Order: sequence, then structure tokens, then C-alpha cells
Amino acid sequence: MDMFSMKIAVLDKLKEILKKVKREASKEHTIDFTQVGHSSIKEGSLDGKPIQRVIFYLRGYGCKWALSRDGGCLMCGHYIGTSMGRRIPAQYFITQFRAEFLKYDFEQYPMVCVYNAGSFLNEEEMPVIARRGICRIIAENRLIQTVIIESRPEFITKEVIEEIEEDLAGKRVEISVGLELENNLFREICINKGFGFEEYVSCAKVIAESKLHLLTYVVVKPLFLTITESIEQAIKTARRVFELGSAVISFEPISLQRSTVVEYFFNKGIYSLPWGWDMIEIMKEVHNLPTEIRIGGFEFFPIPEVFIQNCALCNRELYEAIAQYNATKDLQPILSLQCNCKQTWKAEIAKELSLNENLITRVYKMLELG
Ligand code: SF4
Ligand SMILES: [Zn+2]
Repeated sequence: MDMFSMKIAVLDKLKEILKKVKREASKEHTIDFTQVGHSSIKEGSLDGKPIQRVIFYLRGYGCKWALSRDGGCLMCGHYIGTSMGRRIPAQYFITQFRAEFLKYDFEQYPMVCVYNAGSFLNEEEMPVIARRGICRIIAENRLIQTVIIESRPEFITKEVIEEIEEDLAGKRVEISVGLELENNLFREICINKGFGFEEYVSCAKVIAESKLHLLTYVVVKPLFLTITESIEQAIKTARRVFELGSAVISFEPISLQRSTVVEYFFNKGIYSLPWGWDMIEIMKEVHNLPTEIRIGGFEFFPIPEVFIQNCALCNRELYEAIAQYNATKDLQPILSLQCNCKQTWKAEIAKELSLNENLITRVYKMLELG
């Protein structure tokens, strides 16, 4: 079979699995949409100083891409925390947000992240009236200095960026875009991202011409990539997005989220989660880039079941080192991490090196399509 036909067979099979996973997820689904999904406090850095930030996870309609017939990223578990496309009155978004917002004293939290399990800038997911209402609530609070929102590239237009500039004037605003991988083929097969690198470049340009800042998510250890490929891709992606003006790069090691294709393959023993050692190798190469780097992968709703890890003996130290890096940008605790489990990680890499077939052939065989 030629490579093109193999690729089509692989994509068809993955979409079939994705649909099955989404069908299962939609069973028995009842949620109160007047309540915010969740909010949490995480470490962060602002003007070179450690700070704490509040993350608001709004309950929304769901990501338009995840709701589409063949859409949804293979690692993304946001879908089950949403109404799965059922309309929610615009006012509910504001009610959810205000109720949660009032719980915090922003003297301690100069940075807020407002996530809606999709694209904050897509008016089909977040009605304009709700989006502007939420921005106004934030704008009125002088203690908040930085606001982070997320969007897919197709919703980042000049008009909406101007609206945000106006509504959040005086605050630093970061728009997060999940490019994940710079390689189009890898992004298509390993993530099912549904957009090409060119679309990312276009939205980076729109943001570069505004007062806002681009934050790019770069995935670590997506489905089907070996450890070595994943490390190389993450480094390459970070360098490319830096050249395109991304003001912040956030690495997102895959976590195990419920009702996802990643979980499906994890349960079959075909996929293993990223090691902390992967992240350490990446940081060694990119920490000198003159841009802000964060290590994410912990901030999701619903809360993931398992995160990036090494072993029971050194996980705690790993998480503390990551948290410390995010707050202080001091890489030393990450670099000085030592544990015997590094040998197991090295052995896994050596085993994977024998896989000398290309990605499509490998996945084709893995899915037993031959
Ligand atoms: S990762 Fe983002 S774009 Fe992909 S399905 Fe989840 S919310 Fe949508
Ligand atoms: Zn260990």
C-alpha cells in the first residue's frame, strides 16, 4: 500500500476511535451551568518576580472543533466538562464568572487566566455580550495586571483583537494558541489539531500588530511520537514560534484526561505518558531563548488523572522543581534532579531507536490496519 493510502487509513481509524470516545463521553451528562467549572491558584511569574495567579475554568458550550463531526484534539478532555453544544444563556457565563471572581482578593493575584474549554474569542462558544461582560469585570479591578485567554487561530481576527485591546486597556493580555507541533503531519496524526502551521503564522501576525501578546502551547510527548522525536519536535517548535514573535512559550506535557483518545491508547498499553526527563532535556536546549518559558500541563478542567512523571521516589521533587521554575525561572532545581529511574528512561529511548519506520507506517501497524 502506498504512503498516501496508509495515511488515509490511519486518519479514518483515528476518527472512528475519536467518535466512539466522544459518544461514550456524552452519556449521562448533567451539569449545572450557573456554576463555574472550577477555579484554582497556581504559581506564576510577573516582571521577573514570583506571583500567584488565579485560573477560572468556565463551563461553556464546548470547543467548536471538538463539537464538529471529525474534530477534537486527541489529548483534550475539556469536552466532558462542557454542555457539548447545548446553548447556555449568555448571562450564565457572566453569573458563573462573577460569583467565582468575588471569592478572590486580587492584591495577592495580579494575573488571571480565563478559560472556557475552547476559544474565548469564538462568539459561538462565548457570546460577545458575555465576553465583553467578563472583560469589563476584570478591567474594573485595578489590581489585576495580566489576563490570559485562549483561542484557536481562526477566531483571532483584527476586529476581535481591537475589542479586547479596548476592553482590557491598560492590562497585559496574552492570547494562548495551541500550535502544539510545528510539523504539519505530526500535528495532524498525533493531535488531530485541525489547523495548519500557516494559520498559526497568520494569527501570530495579527497579534504582533496589536498591543496583545502571543502565548504558544507546545505539546510534549503526544500520541505516537517516540521520546526522541517528541523532544526534538518540542525544541524545534519552540525555536520556530520564538522567531515568529511568541512572547511566551508554554510547554504542555500530556496528562491523562478522561474520555480522550490518549486515555484509550493508554488503557491499551500502547501509549505512555511523558517522563520528567523529557522535559528536562527540552529545557536544557531552550531555556536560553530570550522569551518567557513556562512549563504547563497541570491546568485543566476536568482535572486530569495522571500528569508528567518520573517515579514515586522523585516525582515530588520534579513537581517542586517545575513549580519553582515557573515562579522564579531558576532552572537549577530542574537540572540538578537525579534519580535511578533515569536509567529506565534511557533504556526506553534505546528500545524506541530500533523503530526505524516513518510515523505513518508505524501508526498503521500499531492500529493493526495492515
Ligand atoms: S485542545 Fe483546544 S482546540 Fe483542541 S479540542 Fe481541546 S479545546 Fe479544542
Ligand atoms: Zn525517579
